[in-house]
Amino acid sequence: MPPTALVTRRGTDRIRAGHPWIYRSDVARVDAEPGDIVRVLGEHQRPFGWAFFSSTSLITLRMLTSDPAEMDEAPWLASRLDRAQAYRESLAIDGSAWRIVNGEADQLPATVIDRYGSRQGLYFVVQTLAQGSDRRRQTIVEWLVRRFAPAGILARNDPKVRQLEGLEPKVEVLHGDIPDRVEVSEGEMTLSVDLRRGQKTGLFLDQRENHQAAARYARGRALDAFTYNGGFALQMARAVEHVLALDSSMPAVEQTRANAAANGLTCLEAREANVFDELRELEIAGTSFDTIALDPPAFAKNKAAIERAWAGYKEINLRALRLLRPGGHLITCSCSYNVDEAMFLEILREAAADARVPVWLVEKRMQGRDHPVLVGVPETHYLKCMILRRVA
Ligand code: SAH
Repeated sequence: MPPTALVTRRGTDRIRAGHPWIYRSDVARVDAEPGDIVRVLGEHQRPFGWAFFSSTSLITLRMLTSDPAEMDEAPWLASRLDRAQAYRESLAIDGSAWRIVNGEADQLPATVIDRYGSRQGLYFVVQTLAQGSDRRRQTIVEWLVRRFAPAGILARNDPKVRQLEGLEPKVEVLHGDIPDRVEVSEGEMTLSVDLRRGQKTGLFLDQRENHQAAARYARGRALDAFTYNGGFALQMARAVEHVLALDSSMPAVEQTRANAAANGLTCLEAREANVFDELRELEIAGTSFDTIALDPPAFAKNKAAIERAWAGYKEINLRALRLLRPGGHLITCSCSYNVDEAMFLEILREAAADARVPVWLVEKRMQGRDHPVLVGVPETHYLKCMILRRVA
């Protein structure tokens, strides 16, 4: 008998609706060890498929498949990984770094694999964020080695969510070597990435396509607030006279400067600043811009933080709209899952109304195609990127 979990009616209704998470309150009984793949049973012992079991998280079960047939773990995992890789390959991505596995969206819950291709070789960064995926880490590494013969594989298992699973934070090399820096490309730009210490797994890969979209609107004087390693600024730099890149993290600013220099971009100026203060000062100084990118960190990490997040998003967008010249564009993002698209648009409406400027919404974007959204799983749609034009 395989390990089993007995799920309530409400739990099986969620599975039927296509959502992979079953909460503790909907699990009546479990006979399994932490991280086991369990057979999910509903009323009258009816089989509903297979799931990762977590002994500590409120998300007790993460569905792997709703196919009730016997589960053969090794071929199942390999076929999911193969499918994820085949999809990314089909995208013909303009760059050398992208996500090949995006957790729940790829029906590989709590599993992230990012690929960083460089002249030095191919590197992968893996995150196993729940007991079920963490136990299968070695199998994932073996698949990567077989498939790509990479130069290095790093586990970036430092996200806080692992605490909910009773898992230690750990950054470790799982295969080969990880150099201090790897050089990857994004469109025509080269970026130097610190896989061990960089934010996320080194880059904000989910913004790659939005960087390139922003470049299509960029002209004149540009501002990239919250630049990190120069994401929007570098792509916009080719099209503008001058771009000011801001970040409150000095290592991020230094990396942005190094990236600008490596790409021969003299029009990019990077400065350490708190965006909230700097937007105010720019306004007092009478500065204006033709193009502004706003990509702050998630202001609403949970539902309780929504009100403050609303105020924060509104403030920066209001100030940015005031700094924008008529006919200019604002590329404005929110990566807070708890602020959904409708709410974000409402915040932007309020900002435009308070700034007393007519504004067009010219493009509605989201995370790049290598971070697909699984329909029925709202948590997989977290990034909103709106392109607004201040009407001339
Ligand atoms: N736009 C980047 C990603 C930005 S992530 C890209 O596309 O790659 C958010 C960045 O905002 C982080 O680098 C963080 O250091 C910075 N940050 C957070 N709070 C800030 C603040 N108040 N002022 C300036 N930068 C801030």
